[in-house]
Amino acid sequence: MDVRAQLVMVFNLDKCIGCHACSISCKNIWTDRRGAEYMWWNNVESKPGVGYPKGWEDQGTYKGGWVAGGNRLRLRALGKVPTLLNLFFQPNLPKLTDYYEPFDFDYGNLYGAGDADDQPVAGAFSQISGRKIESIQGGPNWDDDLSGSRLYAANDVNLEDRGIVEDYGRMFLQYLPRICNHCLHPACVASCPSRAIYKRGEDGIVLVDQNVCKGWRFCTTACPYKKVYFNWDSGKAEKCIFCFPRTETGQCNACAHSCVGRIRYVGVLLYDTERVEQALLEPDDRLVEAHRAVILDPRDPAVREAARKNGVSAQWLDAAVNSPAYALVKEFGLALPLHPEFRTFPMAYYIPSLSPVLSVEGESHELMEHGLFPEVDSMRAPLSYLASLLSGGNRDVVAAALARLIALRVFTRAKNLDQPVPGGVLERAGLDEAAAVRLYRLLTIGGYGERNVIPAQQREEQDPHVRKGAGGFGILKKAGRRK
Ligand code: SF4
Ligand code: SF4
Repeated sequence: MDVRAQLVMVFNLDKCIGCHACSISCKNIWTDRRGAEYMWWNNVESKPGVGYPKGWEDQGTYKGGWVAGGNRLRLRALGKVPTLLNLFFQPNLPKLTDYYEPFDFDYGNLYGAGDADDQPVAGAFSQISGRKIESIQGGPNWDDDLSGSRLYAANDVNLEDRGIVEDYGRMFLQYLPRICNHCLHPACVASCPSRAIYKRGEDGIVLVDQNVCKGWRFCTTACPYKKVYFNWDSGKAEKCIFCFPRTETGQCNACAHSCVGRIRYVGVLLYDTERVEQALLEPDDRLVEAHRAVILDPRDPAVREAARKNGVSAQWLDAAVNSPAYALVKEFGLALPLHPEFRTFPMAYYIPSLSPVLSVEGESHELMEHGLFPEVDSMRAPLSYLASLLSGGNRDVVAAALARLIALRVFTRAKNLDQPVPGGVLERAGLDEAAAVRLYRLLTIGGYGERNVIPAQQREEQDPHVRKGAGGFGILKKAGRRK
């Protein structure tokens, strides 16, 4: 057992209101500068939709992530020969139009225009070339709230039944906030010929060393989430840094701090690096269980001892015990990895959304008799859709998480209305009353300190052994790509 610690973010999709406060706070702090205008390290997408960059989930086009076969993992796009051939040209990169041409407005014209018959306007201009843009063709949230559209929703690769787009009675909308997942098996790290990208041993954050990056852009191709960006001004790759200057001092990330819906949780997970690679060889529909098996119980004395031997501090172990991420991912089995079939072992997890509770009004079934809650297979957002997004196609895993959320709502509703709790509701969802009360608090009224349990760290005082140990992936280990 080789125990390491990782900082993780969990998103509760039911609570995201699509306000983009997270994206704006991130942009103001990290990418408000030349060459980074088009970058949104944190972005929020409307689903169903094609996202940002357009169609990022379609690995048939972008060739990101890992492929399992013959008891080994290989990068989808890269091998020795393609790597050499692609050194100066990456054929599978998103184009600028797949992101959007960044623009600003000529506000000066509002003040400086001379006398005229018409009101002056602040025309748009390109932040790259400076040219005037007559008609804006795209933006960072161009398909915002357009989940019913044939242009965007219909092209979502997760939709099994595209006919839903034509039927507004069945259509659904939810938001998907995304950051770099700071994966345990990061394709970006493995693909970099310059070894500029690395995974920090002490907290698992994946960073690009700007002094080493040569701008080959293999990382952008390899990341299946398209969360490494190319700065056209500096010629280097850039990506989300998980706000490490904040987390090192025990503060939560800017996106989480500014989140209006309070949907984000930040905490520590302990994992066994020796099990990561094997877990990723499982079939798609068994990957969520495999993920969970790699995550270790921070209260287990053997785990704690192994972690201490690897230099994980007592403070980090305490944080792991109180981690909201551990509760939501492992204990309650609610939070699921985004597209686990990309096999990067993402360290951002999502609690699937329950859809509008009245979506099947009029139908009769057991849970509705106890309230107004539909059963999981009659939810407005189809199970197949959520399973494609969050469980490698395994509907049972998503259904179990949704059933638990419904049971919690039935229980809480009964308590609030001073009514008896319907018999067996909690038990069937694998909860007891104490667990339900705890989970309710965590998902709803939990304060900052409950949602964010982030141990501060003194890098200069840290055991150098810790810094060298991140990840659990043979391919990176052999290549010495761990710092
Ligand atoms: S999401 Fe994973 S593969 Fe993509 S940049 Fe982040 S760590 Fe790398
Ligand atoms: S700030 Fe929170 S609620 Fe608003 S879009 Fe971002 S994740 Fe969603």
